[in-house]
Amino acid sequence: MTGRRPPIIGITTLAIEAEQNPIPPRIGQNQAYIRGLVRAGAAPLMIPQLADASLVRAIYEQLDGLLLPGGEDIDPARYGEARHEQCGRVSPERDEMELALARWAVEDGMRLLAICRGIQLLNVALGGSLYQDIAAQIPGAERHDWYPGYPRNRLSHEVAVTPQTRLAALLGDGSLRVNSLHHQALKEVPPGLTVVARAPDGIVEAVEIADHPFALGVQWHPEELAEGDIRAQRLFDALVEACQV
Ligand code: MN
Repeated sequence: MTGRRPPIIGITTLAIEAEQNPIPPRIGQNQAYIRGLVRAGAAPLMIPQLADASLVRAIYEQLDGLLLPGGEDIDPARYGEARHEQCGRVSPERDEMELALARWAVEDGMRLLAICRGIQLLNVALGGSLYQDIAAQIPGAERHDWYPGYPRNRLSHEVAVTPQTRLAALLGDGSLRVNSLHHQALKEVPPGLTVVARAPDGIVEAVEIADHPFALGVQWHPEELAEGDIRAQRLFDALVEACQV
């Protein structure tokens, strides 16, 4: 890094199939992620879905940081489970590409922010597993799937942040209210990840990696809050700042 050019943060994308003609199949991503990165001073780079890992690697090597965003459910076969009937749509090609990116980023010290599907992907990439449906598999859990039909910035539950963690340094000790647009959650968390925030029902809401320059995953969607919420934008700011040291 020269310290002068903005850090380039790669963000993975989803395939948008032509379910409603006349649009052709497209690649895209929610604009809120892009805005969060731009406000933080990054130059976002959208990574198309590519089956050829050598092409993904070529793009990866141009990056200063990586954002793994929300999206489809991860194929349960990736963590050795049969599909539960409440498991949603999966995207095996996206799984393949993002699992590779996540493992490279962990290994290389590439600055990494993982959001919603992203935290789940990071967990699976390092050997963990998922609850395929919170409502079906965790009796007594509160509702976490406040979608569709609700504002994406709806503050739906508290999270308690573990003191003396990187996340606590960013957001402060204690609790904050977050949005919640997920029906799956982390189950077995691999040794490489540290749980740093939980919802009141115990659902894992954030993880980080010790001994990594910056690797943070959150289950909520800070990009949908960041415009009016300093503590949400701070996660994007911290990713970009970590790219500049
Ligand atoms: Mn939640």
